[in-house]
Amino acid sequence: MSDLYDKLVDLAKKRGVYWVSYEIYGGLAGFYDFGPVGVLLKRSVIDEWLRTFVYAFDFVVEIETPIISPQVVFKASGHEEHFTDPIVVCTKCGRVYRADHLIKEATGINVEGASLESMWRIIVEKGVKCPECGGDLSKPENALLLFKTEIGPYRGQPGYLRPELAQGMFVDFKTVLNIARNKLPLGIAQVGRVARNEISPRQGLLRLREFTIMELEFFHDPSESRRDVEDYLWFVEGETLNVVTAESRERGIEEPVKLTVREAFEKGVVKNPWLAFWMGVGAKFVRSLGIPPEKTRFLEKLPQERAHYSAQTFDQEVYSSKFGWVEIAGYAYRTDYDLKRHMEYSGVDMFFFKRYERPLEVVKKRVLIDYKKLAEFLGEKYQSVLKSLQSMSQEELYEELTSKGYVLIGDVKLGREFFNLREEKTLVHGEKIIPHVVEPSFGVERLLYILLEYSYTVVEDRVVLRIPPRLAPYQVAVFPLLAGSKEEHKAMSSLARSIVKKLREKGLRVVYDEEGSIGRRYARADEIGVPYAVTVDHQSLRDNTVTIRFRDTRNQVRVEIDKLYDTILKYLEDNKMA
Ligand code: AMP
Repeated sequence: MSDLYDKLVDLAKKRGVYWVSYEIYGGLAGFYDFGPVGVLLKRSVIDEWLRTFVYAFDFVVEIETPIISPQVVFKASGHEEHFTDPIVVCTKCGRVYRADHLIKEATGINVEGASLESMWRIIVEKGVKCPECGGDLSKPENALLLFKTEIGPYRGQPGYLRPELAQGMFVDFKTVLNIARNKLPLGIAQVGRVARNEISPRQGLLRLREFTIMELEFFHDPSESRRDVEDYLWFVEGETLNVVTAESRERGIEEPVKLTVREAFEKGVVKNPWLAFWMGVGAKFVRSLGIPPEKTRFLEKLPQERAHYSAQTFDQEVYSSKFGWVEIAGYAYRTDYDLKRHMEYSGVDMFFFKRYERPLEVVKKRVLIDYKKLAEFLGEKYQSVLKSLQSMSQEELYEELTSKGYVLIGDVKLGREFFNLREEKTLVHGEKIIPHVVEPSFGVERLLYILLEYSYTVVEDRVVLRIPPRLAPYQVAVFPLLAGSKEEHKAMSSLARSIVKKLREKGLRVVYDEEGSIGRRYARADEIGVPYAVTVDHQSLRDNTVTIRFRDTRNQVRVEIDKLYDTILKYLEDNKMA
């Protein structure tokens, strides 16, 4: 299988999908460049995600916020304190390793989220050494994964590159809520670059130091989520979640249970109905990338494996023939953690005013003090007793006076004759709440790799990328046959070019190729996953028809040029491949 991986990496470079960045300077670990095909494929993945997670719902909107942020944002978010990974350093050669990964590789023991002391114990007990030079390892310590920077060239203020997009949505919550006419639930989505100073990344596109995330922060009222989600469950009807619970993982069982979205929250497996809902949407999305449902699962993280902000987390994983189960998305129940923290650090109100359907009639208990009588009675003590009385709440005072008939302030006993008790009816229109948040978060490059791995097939020694037609980098290839006389060549070529022009004007991405035999041209198009190849031949010149060849079956059909665009559009809509 590593053979397949090597071939895939070769193809990726040769055909312009991706390659290591800064190659002429020896390359840089954790950074990749994307070529002409890679850029288009990434965009397809992003578009599909936007269609599924954003455009499908009228309560989800997309925003864009900066990559660089002032330090306070990641202080408030807790990242400055918690966004670390454990490292060990080889005392002989100085190489740095991620401690939990090294221990897993050397001993098979999963220590993700374990304490530094327990990792050190395993290193000592199992004699884990530097895999490169065999040297002794240092005690594990935590390394901060945030990229630091300075904002402003001269004595600038400290800043960080964002390691996730979420804080942009939290900081902007009130502004976007206003734009969305103050309604919950509200999803705020973003697609953008993030940076994480990963320790010695070695897994190609899977572990990068700079990558693209597609993230949704879904703000909702937790007390209404059970009711609200009912209106949208139809959207994920028929989706099955393969769930491996934390409880079963702790018993050493990795076999998933199959649940519908409804079952997932009604059985209490997923703590928040909206979290289950978005997992259902995620299952649908991954299927649209051509990944069979049995090759994806949701793995619940153990408490010690969860990020500091999360009350429950599931990783959505896809099986890779090269890497085993790979996390492509995280689903976290972030509760009200982030909004609360930003309120604390910024001093700005992040509440949502929850308006009741009908105002509530509330009886307010009021106590009016007869100041004149009180002053006459108390003399010198008047001011101090009054101060104490005023520091009590109206309800408290009312309660004392009605239950006991007097109130005691120090050694002064004041009977009801000093007060006038009243009950006033008022209307309450709502209350202030801090919304809760569930978050699905996808890495684009990991999806791109998975998409390539699942599409990569070899037919008679030739590579065919069986990418779902809708996601293909180019939707159509157009080839003039170029056989026969010079005049015929010319006529075919100009007819083909006019077809290309029309298809491009209508928004399709088209490859035009007139180099080499038609067989070679089909092969080149297959290699980058172009689903439909249109050929202009002799007959085209006579009757204005062309052939369309399907990438996966090599079947051909003949259609009128006038109907070509509509036909291809319909094929793309149906992901047709026959
Ligand atoms: P996280 O916020 O850690 O749950 O990350 C969200 C998603 O980003 C993951 O599910 C991955 O798909 C992706 N991701 C995380 N770290 C990396 C990385 N170092 N390189 C590439 N993708 C990553």
